[in-house]
Amino acid sequence: MNTIDVYKRLPKTNCGECPERTCMAFALAIVKGGTEVENCPHLDPSVAGELRNAKGTDWRESLIAGLREEVSRLDFSRCAGGLGAELVDGAMKIRCLGMDFLVGPDGEITTRGYINPWIKILLLHYIRSGGRGEPSGRWVSFSELKAGLVKASSFQRDCEEPLGRLLDDDFAATTAMLSRLGAEETASESADHAWRLLALPKVPVLILYWKEEEELDVMGSSSCRILFDATADRFLDVESLVFLVEGLVNIIGHALRR
Ligand code: SF4
Repeated sequence: MNTIDVYKRLPKTNCGECPERTCMAFALAIVKGGTEVENCPHLDPSVAGELRNAKGTDWRESLIAGLREEVSRLDFSRCAGGLGAELVDGAMKIRCLGMDFLVGPDGEITTRGYINPWIKILLLHYIRSGGRGEPSGRWVSFSELKAGLVKASSFQRDCEEPLGRLLDDDFAATTAMLSRLGAEETASESADHAWRLLALPKVPVLILYWKEEEELDVMGSSSCRILFDATADRFLDVESLVFLVEGLVNIIGHALRR
């Protein structure tokens, strides 16, 4: 099936409820394997089943295969400690976003229930780093990380702004989802709300949120900023950190649309 074939089977309402926002963009993402059929909440189950089989080569599966190959060359007994993982019968048990995952020496990842390919890619990238040192306890902005300046505007556009919108639109549901993913509210001297989230054992994230100023009557007057420990770029490169927060925002957005 090509993009037009997929598009013809979609509702064609451009309701904007999927991450791609339009039916044509969604059709393109389906063919490229860049989204899940479940991200459109308006599909008839029979059409959804048909589209699941319509996906083209999924770039994520190829990426996962390459990363597994790299990870299989690591000595888990040497790098588990540095990654904050526990060794269990030769596998590494890693906590990620409030859930435990078991990563075998061949890079296969298991957990209770379904594993989103996004989580697999994230975990394999993290393990590939080999683990070095401990978080410093010093928060820095994305642009202060190694090579962060180059990607700072896309981080703001694809991560901070969408998370800010979710908090603006439904604060209670978004914070409930953050809590399910392991975030804990913490004190902040500057923001109205702050959460510390252990995305991976050595990658803590600080989410800061300023509420909309109703009395100002200005669109977009709220804001969200996401800070990382100064050592975050030792464990994930900046592309992977964008990938991490984008995935987090997608998970929350998807749960809220259900
Ligand atoms: S959610 Fe479905 S109907 Fe709405 S824009 Fe996306 S693909 Fe189209």
